[in-house]
Amino acid sequence: MIVAERKPINEILGMIKDAKRVLVLGCRGCVTVCSAGGEREVEILASLIKVGRKKEGKPIEIIEGSLVRQCDKEYIDSMDKWDGQYDAVLSMACGVGVNFIANLRPMVNVYPAVNTSFFGGSMDQGVWVEQCAGCGDCVLHLTGGLCPVARCAKSLMNGPCGGSQDGRCEIHRDVPCIWQYVHDKLESLGRKEQMLALAPIRDWRSAGHGGPRKVVRDDLTV
Ligand code: SF4
Ligand code: SF4
Repeated sequence: MIVAERKPINEILGMIKDAKRVLVLGCRGCVTVCSAGGEREVEILASLIKVGRKKEGKPIEIIEGSLVRQCDKEYIDSMDKWDGQYDAVLSMACGVGVNFIANLRPMVNVYPAVNTSFFGGSMDQGVWVEQCAGCGDCVLHLTGGLCPVARCAKSLMNGPCGGSQDGRCEIHRDVPCIWQYVHDKLESLGRKEQMLALAPIRDWRSAGHGGPRKVVRDDLTV
């Protein structure tokens, strides 16, 4: 899922300082699962904004809402029901949702209430860890299912680098060197010789270095 975190309340208050009626809009997708921007977080943020604005002596009207997803035109269209009721939207979706509202509602002031962090998974209660960088050319079949793009600090494709020590990464001593993991995993699977195969020079255009990316599925388009 996409993992996100709510921005500090003072940053949010600064964004909407001139607004009088704000639609705080949650998303029932990934940000609900990671407890950053679902219906519960909309309610909490709405209360924090009201308290903050009261302290500033500038009361504000808040409309609380949420969409099934903010990354789908069909659901953005369902914002029609709030038309004319707000002068700004505070989106609690990931950056995709904020962009979708900006794309599809050109006259709407939309602001991000969360920082979109990464593609990751929940390892423990309240702990999410990055696993994938969406590079567009997956190599997990070569690395025992462990991602060197997202999980190596240097995104090395032929690691480990010379800084790997005792299984720890030289950049962050508190995190494991993923290439040590790759080695150990391949060894335990009886595929250790794969470590010796030099990966070909990588074409990073699929990772977004050639501009915004797009996926078109001919079998699904009409
Ligand atoms: S290799 Fe690319 S697509 Fe595969 S998990 Fe890593 S970043 Fe994601
Ligand atoms: S120590 Fe390991 S994880 Fe850290 S940068 Fe080097 S190869 Fe990557």
